Amino acid sequence: MPTFLIGYDVEHLDPEVTRPFLRRAAELHREYGVPATLFVLGQTLERNVDALGQFVDDPLFDIQQHTYSHMPLKTLVQRNSRGTELILGGSLDRTREEVSRTSELLEEHLGVRCTGLTGPYTYYRGLADRPDILQVLDECGIEFLRTYGRNEHDWQPVPLEVQPFWYSLQGFPGLLEYGVTGWADCLLREELGWDDHDGYLSELRRNLDLIEERDLVWSYLQHDWASLRGDPGMTLTETLLREVRDRGIEAMRYIDHYERAAAQR
Ligand SMILES: [Zn+2]
Repeated sequence: MPTFLIGYDVEHLDPEVTRPFLRRAAELHREYGVPATLFVLGQTLERNVDALGQFVDDPLFDIQQHTYSHMPLKTLVQRNSRGTELILGGSLDRTREEVSRTSELLEEHLGVRCTGLTGPYTYYRGLADRPDILQVLDECGIEFLRTYGRNEHDWQPVPLEVQPFWYSLQGFPGLLEYGVTGWADCLLREELGWDDHDGYLSELRRNLDLIEERDLVWSYLQHDWASLRGDPGMTLTETLLREVRDRGIEAMRYIDHYERAAAQR
């Protein structure tokens, strides 16, 4: 069955950005009945405890994490039309600190048990080549990931053929990688120009067509700040959610998809 998963990285350090985003996202997802997951940066959580609290008991949302300070888990060699850039990943000790601290904050402030994580920047092959990092995440209680969000140039798009997979080969048969497929919002909108809404929407529609034709899961990433940039009413998001609803595409929170996948193994 074609499935649409949308997860927002909630990561801006200014609550004047995060709060309007959270308000509008709540309205839109409730209006269209499309579930979503919030992957929250620890530093952003600390600044927005009240605004995030409203999502805790809403069955349309689940709250997961995006590390404490946005430290890359793995080094990227990012190549795009502007050149090649090295983005260094942090140490295993820092990874453990970043992830466990954020899980503790989610538990302490929101009573949320965190089992999912989006890796800052995301990486080619996710963590398939880094069982040492998977080990740390596993010890931190993480069960599902979005870290495979870059192609072989550590850039995007990632083909939608990259489908959720278990890290069994690496020794973690209970750890599920969702990837981030297609384009994340900010990278494509930057390429197209932030005002090119039609160009962006046609890319989104192509992805919906593809998952319907080929019966795929689309694991899609938006950001709090990028959802608002050049589109303060979040009309792009609204159009996408309406289209998902009108096409009758199954949409789920990552946590529910994970639990179903785990039960079906
Ligand atoms: Zn991020």
